[in-house]
Amino acid sequence: MRANYRLPRLFIDNPLVPGIELEADAGQTNYLVNVLRLKDSAELLVFNGRDGEWRASVHPRGRKKAFIRPLKQERPQPPAPGLVYCFAPLKAGRLDYMVQKAVEMGAGILQPVITQHTQVTKLGHERMAANAIEAAEQCGVLAIPDVRESVKLDRLLAEWEADRRLVFCDEGIGTDNPLPALQAIGETKLALLVGPEGGFSDEERRQLHALPFVTAIPLGPRILRADTAAVAALALLQAVKGDWQPIKFP
Ligand code: SAH
Repeated sequence: MRANYRLPRLFIDNPLVPGIELEADAGQTNYLVNVLRLKDSAELLVFNGRDGEWRASVHPRGRKKAFIRPLKQERPQPPAPGLVYCFAPLKAGRLDYMVQKAVEMGAGILQPVITQHTQVTKLGHERMAANAIEAAEQCGVLAIPDVRESVKLDRLLAEWEADRRLVFCDEGIGTDNPLPALQAIGETKLALLVGPEGGFSDEERRQLHALPFVTAIPLGPRILRADTAAVAALALLQAVKGDWQPIKFP
């Protein structure tokens, strides 16, 4: 079920129970009372990533405090999407964008991966988690994706679950059309891997091609920036194998 886009949506990290008043934090209070200028008893939607989506009312007390009262569940909590998105971290602005887009596109787990040409190794985990929440608020996602700690590519591959197929966006593959390789995938558990701005090293490409659980795909005839590649590849995966299809992978 799609979200109701007419009401503001807020993530609240509290259990959602009808009738119990929750105090909004300073940022939420400012957004509700000073930015949206909601009046007493105005309605909004709230979710916490566990209890589904609730219609709620807001009750400002002056301009610095506000309470939120969950009224009625509007959508039940869906299971977290199973799609794992593995990506080489980018510099701050592009990383923010990439995390937001990955959430909008339905990734369930965000796995930063350190590759040989990855330039960014110090990662703002909290900032990524905050971006994931903001994207979920905006696009109606109820299961907040899990943002994992970064892991080196070697270790990621060594510890890979045997029944999950890793779709690897390979800028050096020499063909343009990703569809035949994607359509040939039989597994329902999928992951996607997009490289850093500097691309994968030859050694990494050889290593990935040799693994039985890896499918390498091209993304057309042009080299895309990593953040563009992320959106293009996630759209392809959702359209061919994911939740844009009548049969969804778990
Ligand atoms: N600097 C590299 C490009 C890296 S693009 C070069 O010039 O070759 C960043 C990442 O986006 C790549 O590692 C790959 O995962 C993905 N990507 C970009 N364009 C692609 C394409 N045409 N086909 C497949 N993957 C692509």
